[in-house]
Amino acid sequence: MEKLARKDVQALTPYLSARRLGGQGDVWLNANESPFNNEYVVSGNSLNRYSECQPDPLIRAYADYAGVRPDQVLTSRGADESIELLIRTFCEAGEDSILFCPPTYGMYAISAETFGVARKTVPLTEDWQLNMPEIEKQIDGVKLVFVCSPNNPTGNLLNRDDIEALLEMTAGKALVVVDEAYIDFCPEASTVDLLVRYPNLAILRTMSKAFALAGLRCGFTLANTQVIQLMLKVIAPYPVPVPVTEIACQALSEMGLARMKYQVLDLNANRAYLQAGLSMLPGAQVFDGYGNYLLVKFDDADLLFSTLWDNGIILRRSPIEGCIRISVGNREECEKTLTFIRQQLA
Ligand SMILES: *Cc1c(COP(=O)(O)O)cnc(C)c1O
Repeated sequence: MEKLARKDVQALTPYLSARRLGGQGDVWLNANESPFNNEYVVSGNSLNRYSECQPDPLIRAYADYAGVRPDQVLTSRGADESIELLIRTFCEAGEDSILFCPPTYGMYAISAETFGVARKTVPLTEDWQLNMPEIEKQIDGVKLVFVCSPNNPTGNLLNRDDIEALLEMTAGKALVVVDEAYIDFCPEASTVDLLVRYPNLAILRTMSKAFALAGLRCGFTLANTQVIQLMLKVIAPYPVPVPVTEIACQALSEMGLARMKYQVLDLNANRAYLQAGLSMLPGAQVFDGYGNYLLVKFDDADLLFSTLWDNGIILRRSPIEGCIRISVGNREECEKTLTFIRQQLA
């Protein structure tokens, strides 16, 4: 069957999610998941009927939370589906390209590859910012520029001035997609206020991280109406299961939002604890992080990673030389991880 598949698919190496990588342990800090397992009520009503394509209560609730109009919101199966929809909506296969800036989230490349869309890369600068002159040199033929802030896996924020300059540079030619999967951990850094000025801006959001609903598969695109309307031409007819809407609306209720904000404060405090503890260790360099994870450079990251793994502490090996990405868990998980690493480096 292999040779029946499209050539692009034959050549494709699928995304190695933390789930696919396996492992056995009791501390899972490898997928930027939330440690909070919140409870929801599912009615089970109306399951005999198809769901609405874009359920009104969900769109309104997220628009309110994000501070935009409902016609500027699209919901999909996670932010990952938004990435696919944008590529399918805007890129001509075999003709247009996307551009992104590694080290960054892996799905931009993989989604483009599965649709036969070329990939251009302009690595981030040494301090993990956008290399603006280099992007300008590469911009011809690019329809979508993906940038991620806070960036996964480095954890830093991108300079807002650069994002604005990028929006100016691409005006009328390409969309700038700002991936804000972790923005709920630092809401003041959002670019959502730029939507009024830039018709070529699209912002990705998700319930998977701060809202502690990775298993729900619910994400959003924020953009101006024309962009949303185009994406709605491409989306599946019933992308949002009825129970997903019920649960997401509870998470976006007044009580749900208060709980999320409380849990964000808690996780941000744990991140500070982990950062302070790690930065005192010899042979460890911690980078400032704004999401629910930290990137840490170790003298012998391979050995440390596998020793942790063998002892049931599952972290994420980063493609960046010598680095491990640690998700921020509950205080107990952070303490256990820090204590173990301290013993290993002593
Ligand atoms: C987790 C993540 C996503 C995907 O979110 P889903 O809504 O779970 O699909 C997108 N972008 C980045 C940077 C992420 O880390």
